[in-house]
Amino acid sequence: MRLKDKVCVITGGASGMGGAASRLFAREGAKVVVADVVESKGQETVSEIKAEGGNALFVKTDVSREADCKHLAAEAVREFGRLDVLYNNAGIFPADDASVIDNPESVWDKVLAVNLKGIVFCCKYAVPEMIKQGGGSVINIASFTALLGCTVPQDAYAASKGGVIALTKQMAVQFGPKKVRSNVICPGPIETPLLTQWLLTNPAERNKRLPRIPLGRFGQPEDVVYLALHLASDESAWTNGAVMVVDGGITSNYF
Ligand code: NAD
Repeated sequence: MRLKDKVCVITGGASGMGGAASRLFAREGAKVVVADVVESKGQETVSEIKAEGGNALFVKTDVSREADCKHLAAEAVREFGRLDVLYNNAGIFPADDASVIDNPESVWDKVLAVNLKGIVFCCKYAVPEMIKQGGGSVINIASFTALLGCTVPQDAYAASKGGVIALTKQMAVQFGPKKVRSNVICPGPIETPLLTQWLLTNPAERNKRLPRIPLGRFGQPEDVVYLALHLASDESAWTNGAVMVVDGGITSNYF
């Protein structure tokens, strides 16, 4: 098993890619702390893991609240005695996020609070635990939208994810010497509730995006979480500060 006895905190661990990661990591021997703002789905994920013989705990967490993130790290350590992996996956992609010249301040506030400050707060309390125990792995989720422009703008989302990449580089350099590795994954469009609940239900929006993907399909959660599994495991012991794109080739596509 690739994560035997590692304690892995997964934010947004109730559904989408976070849910898939919670189940996969548990199957690979991890003790999984599922952190999510939606309690019912989070508890469901934990029950599924336990039904398969895995070990998991749900901690209700709104990552935009510093106190919740402090509580999350403390709960992981209280229950399992350590914290090896922090998988900062929670994120929002609201339909009312548009261009820099149109967005009201409230859109910036809500998107940055979850997508960027949420990672800051989780790291603030998890990384010291990792340093104390002699190492760990932080996996931050950004997006392909931080790497290229889009004529259908979602500027708060893209900017928040650009911030995640910059923050990851800072952390890699600061905490690498303490054996805490920080890396970032930039997924392309993945068929999870985040996209399927609104964007991909519209055939015109779907057809605009699909031809841009050289591999000819949208991504599935597993396409991303297998890379996260590698980053969580000791297989990636010398990977630090990397920005890894999993996008079917969309960011390589000029025409
Ligand atoms: P999703 O909406 O299916 O799942 C996100 C999870 O995060 C949900 O369980 C939700 O309840 C939780 N969450 C939302 N706000 C939270 C908060 N404040 N505190 C704690 N949990 C919260 O989304 P997904 O597609 O699985 O996205 C996972 C990550 O991947 C996000 O950071 C997203 O921005 C990023 N991403 C997604 C895509 C995509 O196409 N789906 C592409 C690039 C990046």
